[in-house]
Amino acid sequence: MILAYHRINPWYPGDALSVSPEMFERQIKFLLEKGFEPVSLYQYTDEKERIKKKFCVTFDDGFVDNFIFAFPVLKKYGIKATIFITAHFVGTDRLHRNYTDREKDRCLRWKEVQEMLRANIDFGSHSLRHPDLTTLDRKQAWDEIFESKKFIQKNTGRKVDFFCYPYGRQNKKIREMVKNAGYLGAVVTNWKDKPDRYALPRIGVYGHNSFFIFRMKLCLQRIRGR
Ligand SMILES: [Zn+2]
Repeated sequence: MILAYHRINPWYPGDALSVSPEMFERQIKFLLEKGFEPVSLYQYTDEKERIKKKFCVTFDDGFVDNFIFAFPVLKKYGIKATIFITAHFVGTDRLHRNYTDREKDRCLRWKEVQEMLRANIDFGSHSLRHPDLTTLDRKQAWDEIFESKKFIQKNTGRKVDFFCYPYGRQNKKIREMVKNAGYLGAVVTNWKDKPDRYALPRIGVYGHNSFFIFRMKLCLQRIRGR
């Protein structure tokens, strides 16, 4: 199963996208205690990989709190994770929708990305500017998908092989483009159709989810065989 987080911080207890560091650690510990093996998205999508009980941790948007609060937990437990960054937001003052604090709500800087890369954290693309790709014309959508890949690769010196659709918004055409741009796979949340490499279903974990709800979500995903 693939878990989808956004923010990990103690700053916004009422915010749906912010999970507290304590809850995040409790969730990770629970999965490990239940015998789930932490794997990267590469291992997860590798058909030769035979690990039955495995989980991936992913984060969307690339908020600075991933570095401050999630990264220490990931290192402590040896968890591989993928952070989907909005390429043109990294190292800038640009803020994601609904957030206004320049310190707490800023995106990662490249030197923070570099430090996490050295500790086995992978970086995927969440487009250049976080638009709803289904509303763009073909050329604009292609740039968001392909140019973001090139841009992140240039800044990290690593291949960028996974994509995450902004707002989870996509369609067949967009999924085709992601494939043609050379990505190995792409992640979604709330996926009702048949999963495939360009629609890898994830469990969205939110700030208002109690630990009980988290466990229920895991159970449901297991039943669905994901
Ligand atoms: Zn996003």
